[in-house]
Amino acid sequence: MFMIEIRSFELSDLCNLISDLGEEPYRALQIYRWLHKGAASFNEMTDLNRPLQKKLSNIAYINNLKIIDQLKADDGTVKFISLLNDNNIIESVFMQYHYGNSLCVSTQVGCKMKCIFCASGLRGYIRNLTSGEMLAQILEVQRIVNKKINNIVLMGIGEPLDNFNAVLKFIRIICDNRGLNISERNVTLSTCGIIDNIISLADQHIKITLAISLHSPIQEEREYIIPVAKKYPIDELIKAIKYYISQTKRRVTIEYGIIENINDSIKHAQLLGKLLKGLLVHINVIPINPVEHFKASPPNPKRLHSFVNILNNKYHIKTTTRRVLGQDINASCGQLRNNYLNSHTVKENFV
Ligand code: SAH
Repeated sequence: MFMIEIRSFELSDLCNLISDLGEEPYRALQIYRWLHKGAASFNEMTDLNRPLQKKLSNIAYINNLKIIDQLKADDGTVKFISLLNDNNIIESVFMQYHYGNSLCVSTQVGCKMKCIFCASGLRGYIRNLTSGEMLAQILEVQRIVNKKINNIVLMGIGEPLDNFNAVLKFIRIICDNRGLNISERNVTLSTCGIIDNIISLADQHIKITLAISLHSPIQEEREYIIPVAKKYPIDELIKAIKYYISQTKRRVTIEYGIIENINDSIKHAQLLGKLLKGLLVHINVIPINPVEHFKASPPNPKRLHSFVNILNNKYHIKTTTRRVLGQDINASCGQLRNNYLNSHTVKENFV
């Protein structure tokens, strides 16, 4: 029998459901509040009467995930491996900053993009996550670390703009002030550059931060690093970024995974500077985290410094180097799930 996955519901969806059930409208908000406090069953919703709890359990379920492994880094970063209802595995990374607690959320099981240095696509793509499964990552980690998460980065396994509707719904749900009440400004969505959905996202006028994985200012090189870039030429991508800025008035983050002898030369810095000059962007240079299947290294500190210096001082584009968190626990996208699957006999469900 089809069961409703109720954690993927916005308040308006719950209102419709409650009205269909012939219940009083205020019940919708009660249920919504419980769901976002992390209730794992309808029985826990003590201000609902028994018959309503029963009615709900007959038609809906609360999709939870089970954290099966945790790795703690010396800097306080904790990487969680979770088992979904259908035995698929995802990961989420908890990070602590001076401004609050952040969770890096997965949006898909596996990934279609196959970027050369990313472990997420190594085993291919399995399925999209539901909004409820994205929300469950926050609720479960909050419960375990016993701290409120106020910053969300959609940078875990998967390409968020390849799961557009569920991701959008997830953002609306977590930013709702009757639920987790996370500020839109504290949500960052990172994409390898799916142009049509960047435009659709801009048209939503939500105030999240868009981060673009650019990695190279040169089209052929970008295609080598991000194969899907063949479909999305850099000049079109820049137009989409401009459109996003014009619609949202938000500064866009440009992510630049810097790899020794591949994209770290002075010439690269200059081309990047020319490409982005005058745009409302901030460049985040990410020293590449070596992964097993791609034995590359980040440039040495001197070379990295010259790269960043050119962008800041010659092109006047604010450029920072990302603080490397959790390197001792393989914290780059998909690395942990991959290691886990290599060393355990978990059978994931391919559909
Ligand atoms: N699919 C999205 C979001 C997930 S990846 C995207 O491509 O943006 C989030 C960021 O981590 C991307 O910028 C990605 O390129 C980067 N990343 C992935 N693997 C990495 C590694 N081994 N070292 C450094 N950054 C990595």
